[in-house]
Amino acid sequence: MIGPLIIVSGPAGGGKTTVVGEVLKICAKPIRVAVTATTRSPRPGEVEGKNYHFWTREKFQTEIASGSLLEYAVVHESDYYGTPVSEVDAYRRQGVGVILIIDVQGAEQVRRIYPEAFSVFISAPHDDEYRLRLEKRGEQPDSIEKRLRTAKRELTRAGEYSAQLVNDELTETVRKMNRLIEAQFHQAGGT
Ligand code: 5GP
Repeated sequence: MIGPLIIVSGPAGGGKTTVVGEVLKICAKPIRVAVTATTRSPRPGEVEGKNYHFWTREKFQTEIASGSLLEYAVVHESDYYGTPVSEVDAYRRQGVGVILIIDVQGAEQVRRIYPEAFSVFISAPHDDEYRLRLEKRGEQPDSIEKRLRTAKRELTRAGEYSAQLVNDELTETVRKMNRLIEAQFHQAGGT
């Protein structure tokens, strides 16, 4: 059985990374989060190969040219982000479900390649939550403004997703997300 492919998008500060992190702890099925690549600098505490592959722009261009990225996009108006092919197919072939936490542009590209992908859009219950959560995370003011502009654009595209979750209460959102993911394994013919 081929493992399901699950795309997760949503504005920065909506809690998607936290939700996925919690799902990994409770999911009864084999799943992993793809480690994607970015040209942005690591934040304090971020680890190469765990949070992201931190690439220079030159390295990113080389990888694009060699066809090793499944999708890529400029996110938050400045940096490249992309999914290495090697993070997806090899795992799915072993029956492992792969979660891609990517933006709306990347999601559109992945759906074109893998129409069977299941996509979930996670948003915060109120618009002012995004700023609050980004401030709490210690983002710089210019980075917050960029992310809020991206958020506005992303929210208009929530309807393109297979499912939408409003992250009001974390435990409940995690439970719903886990149910959606486990259902994808049943659809794919697993147990
Ligand atoms: P950051 O980690 O800089 O706060 O946020 C990066 C945003 O870029 C995430 O919210 C996610 O939506 C998106 N992103 C992360 N990795 C990828 C990727 O590989 N491809 C695309 N298209 N978007 C990504």
